This record gives sequence, structure tokens and C-alpha cells, in this order.
Amino acid sequence: MRRPLALLLLAPSLALLAGGCVYGSIEPGDPVDYALVCALPATAPSSTALAPMSPPGAFVPAADPARPAAIRTGYVPIVQDGEGPIFDMTGVARTVYLNRNGGTLSGGYDDAAHNVSSVVAGTGRGSVTLPKANFSDKDWLKFVSCVSDEFSRFNIQIVQDRPAVAGFMMQMVGGSPSALGLPQAVGGIAPIDKNGCAVIEGAVTFIFPDSLGGSLDVNCEAAAQEIAHAFSLDHELLASDPMTYLDFGGHKVFQDQDASCGESKSRGCICKRPQQNSVKILSEKAGLFQDANGPMVALTSPADGASLSAGALPITVHATSATGSIDRVTLHYHDAGNWIVADCAGHSLPCRRSGDDFTFTVPGARGLATFHAEAADSVGGVNVTHTRTVLAGVGENPDTGAIRIAVSVNLGSFAATRQVALNATITTTAGTIDEATVLWTDRRGATSSNPMCPAGAGTNGWTRSIQAAPTPGERSFVVEADDSEGNHAASARFTILLDR
Ligand SMILES: [Zn+2]
Repeated sequence: MRRPLALLLLAPSLALLAGGCVYGSIEPGDPVDYALVCALPATAPSSTALAPMSPPGAFVPAADPARPAAIRTGYVPIVQDGEGPIFDMTGVARTVYLNRNGGTLSGGYDDAAHNVSSVVAGTGRGSVTLPKANFSDKDWLKFVSCVSDEFSRFNIQIVQDRPAVAGFMMQMVGGSPSALGLPQAVGGIAPIDKNGCAVIEGAVTFIFPDSLGGSLDVNCEAAAQEIAHAFSLDHELLASDPMTYLDFGGHKVFQDQDASCGESKSRGCICKRPQQNSVKILSEKAGLFQDANGPMVALTSPADGASLSAGALPITVHATSATGSIDRVTLHYHDAGNWIVADCAGHSLPCRRSGDDFTFTVPGARGLATFHAEAADSVGGVNVTHTRTVLAGVGENPDTGAIRIAVSVNLGSFAATRQVALNATITTTAGTIDEATVLWTDRRGATSSNPMCPAGAGTNGWTRSIQAAPTPGERSFVVEADDSEGNHAASARFTILLDR
């Protein structure tokens, strides 16, 4: 039975009177989406000073005149003593955020979510600021796709949107080593646990494209090496592996092969490992990507990194089950204006099943589009694909006068909690941002105004989580912001399609 619209529109203001920013449903049986109380900004861990590297610059290998000096990358030994932030990643997929936006990092135990880096501490500097990556959108996409491929068989997700939940690693991409006071010959640097070979959760690793040069392959291989250092991989003398300094005629990928450690000549491996097998160590440290007993699921098209036109975007998923039948295929998708969680058998998106192929059609794709799929089989197995990113038309750069609002949505915990985490990075060229608001429109068209919460001192982040009612359908939102000089701006409208 339909209820009068006026009553429904009252819900947010009634709840406001009732106290704070918790919005409740108007009565049982008529669920509405509601905004959750602002989470307190997470407290940044105390930045315990690490001992400066001794001697300074010791991680820079000796120059080899036969090779371009710029390919050199290093690692900084750090001590894992339990005083850093604790992330329990047992059985959980690691996430590595490729950061092309630059930013300021302070020194301390690695905690990417709070921009704290042991490499920065190791240089003896309190903080460093890195510039944005000087990559075109198309080159960036190829770079992201290449790094994703490097890690595709391991349980490591490479993402280009900053995750909302702490515990991820961050690969900084941009600038020159001089930002860290390092010689121009250093192409990248990362922390490593030389004694315990533990994974450095929250690690911040670096590559410096200004030193590495314009080859996307070289930048990608350097990023693979730096990220893998955080998983305890040493340098090795196998030319086809990204952990090497040796030249190789082709593209370097992690090899399932024992190799001697060293930069230009053999030396002992860290942690007294007799030899190093990159694939074996990454498999042990990170785990393999898919549950071997679950359904096999993969994205067929479009190809990762493809440049397409804006508009209707068909996405084909191939899913099979060895032990049962495929019960459900779900697409998780977002681009410059859409966030979608859609079942092939649902109502959010057109989807056609043909044998083992499930083809979704996203109607109005625009900008950078990122997606993955999930399949469930009739015997309870679930697997997900890796993430692909394509460019649908031109990227979008929402410029709204003095104020710039960049919006992202995190649906990562939606399946479990039905929470939609809205994040905005808001900057102004005039004064400071005083407030930010989400105007959330639920599936019936009722709009509520919800203040956003500052993500933490020293960031330009604002957050708000919305609890979606257990009703499939379309939602949308706009973020508005005001600065201290009286400027007001609103983002474009973003659409969220939810099948559950
Ligand atoms: Zn290295």
C-alpha cells in the first residue's frame, strides 16, 4: 500500500528534532534509507621516531655504469616490534591503493590510511610532500592495469580509489626522489622487514616516475617490486622477475622459480632464506586469489584498460561451477557518475544470460569505469573476479569555482551491512571548507539533508555513511560544500543502483 508522500518527506526533519543526525524510519514496514551517526575521526597512531638509516642512503646500490642509473630502487629495513598499528589481515584480501594524487606524508610506523610512512621516518624528515603523478588518464589506466596483472594470481586487490577502511597499503606514484632527500638515481623505495619477513600491513611504498622515465612497463615493474618488498621479497638475480635489477628483453612478471638474491651479484637472501621464489612467497604471504573449490568466474570483456566511448557499456562475465550450478552473478561497477551493485537476475541493469556468459549493460557509462563481478554457486561457493578499469569517453573533472568536490562511494561492506559509505575530498582556493552536506534521495524520490563528518585533521576528506533500506532500487546524491569566504558549490548528481 502506498503511503502519502508528504508523510514520507517528514521523516528526516522529525528525526532531526529527535536528536542529532540519526534518521529513523517513520514506522515499521516502511523502511527508508537513513544516515548513520558521524564516526569519530580515527586517531592517528603516535609517530614513534624510527632510527635514521645508518649510514644515510645505504639502501642505494652502487652505480653500475653499464645500466641506466634510474632503474635503481631500494628498500628501507624497518623493525616490526608490535608498536605500530595492528591490522589483523588473516585470510583477508590485501588492498594496495595506487595513489596518483600526491600528498603529504609524515614519518612513523607505516599506516597508509593516515599517510604515515616508515620510509619518511627513515630519511629523518618529519614530513614530505609528493606531487601528483604526471600521467595522462590513458597512461594511468595502462599503468594500473599492468600493476593489477602483476598481482592477479594473489589475493591482492590493486585499486585506484582510496579505500575508506584502514589497513590497506599505498603505492605513491609521482615526482622525484629528491622529495625524500634521495639521490636522483633512486627510482623507488619501500619498507621491508629484513629480519622477520613479516608483511608490513599499511605499508607506504614509492616510485618516482621522474627518475624511472616514460616507459609504463618500467614504472609498472618498479611498482611491483616496491609493493612486493612490503611482502618481504628481496632483490633477486632472475632477469625475468620484477624483483631484479638485471635487464630483461621482455615484460617482467613474478616467476615461480628459485633464484639467488642480490643486486648485481649473488648474496644471501634476507631472513636467511636459502633462495627466493617470488610466486611461492607471495602465495604464502598474501594467499591465492580465488577459492579453488568455488565457482570459476572471470571478466571476458571489455578488456582491462580499454578506451571506449561514453554511453551503453556491455560487460560480459564468464562463470562456471565444477560442483554445482551458478546461482547468482553480481556486477559491482562505478564510474564518474554511477555506483552499481546488480544481479544478472535482478532489476537494476539489463542482463542477458547465454550459457555460461552473463552480459550486463550499463546504460550511461562515463569517465573512468571500474568493475568486478562475483559468482555464487548452488553448493555455497563464492568467488570474485579481479577489477578492471576502462575509460568511457573523457574523464570528468568537476570544477565548481573556488571549491572543488571529488566524490567517491564505497560499497565494499554493502553485502554484509547494507551501508553505503560516501566520501568527498573537498578543497577551496578561498579560506577553508566550513561544512559539507549530502543530499540523499532514496528510491521513492524523498530527499534528506545530512551533514558530512570531517575525516580527520590535515585531510580534505569528508565522510557520511547511509544505511540503505532492504529494498532494491535507485538512489542518488549530491554533495554540497561551503567555504569560509562564502562560496557555495554542489557536485554533479551521482546515481547508485542497488539490487539488494
Ligand atoms: Zn627494490
